[in-house]
Amino acid sequence: MNGWDRLGLELVFKGPGAGVANAFLGHLERVSSDLVKNKIKEMKDDEKVCSIEFQMNTLITTASFDESIIDIGDLLGFPITGPMSRYSIFFHELVEQWDKQVNELGYKKAHERAMAWEEHVNGGWERVPEGQKEISNDGQRRVVTVIYRAVSKTKDKDGNIIEEVVEKIIEITRELGTVKVKPIDS
Ligand SMILES: [Zn+2]
Repeated sequence: MNGWDRLGLELVFKGPGAGVANAFLGHLERVSSDLVKNKIKEMKDDEKVCSIEFQMNTLITTASFDESIIDIGDLLGFPITGPMSRYSIFFHELVEQWDKQVNELGYKKAHERAMAWEEHVNGGWERVPEGQKEISNDGQRRVVTVIYRAVSKTKDKDGNIIEEVVEKIIEITRELGTVKVKPIDS
């Protein structure tokens, strides 16, 4: 056990948003699939420490991989369920930091793996790869747009994964903590 981790949990949340972050984690531990619950247990039980600073409403858009900071104020602006839910984005950033700090992965690989975990939390909605854009205005105002689709994955008799889009595409635009959700293919 690490000396400064009094609870013996190796996920360490610091900063003004740490209480909210702990509530997010508790929510995921209650409602998630076993896959996600086991991942959380694995992260908590690991001997290596993953330490994350939770800030409120910084100029960081959602999170800084390099500085290990997550803006919990931004996450509270996302929907409670569905694509881009606050819990799915939280878990994305959490496992990304864990892969960086514990598994020493670079951003590209860690982000790729985090996307899969995000999908496990948000009920199968996946980001359309070409549908992600970020626009910043003079460092003061930031807008993120992400396009999602719901995909059903089944296996054929040879074990190949068959993907079928089962829900209309949804475009989500987020601007400084506010979220607009609009179907773009009605
Ligand atoms: Zn990422």
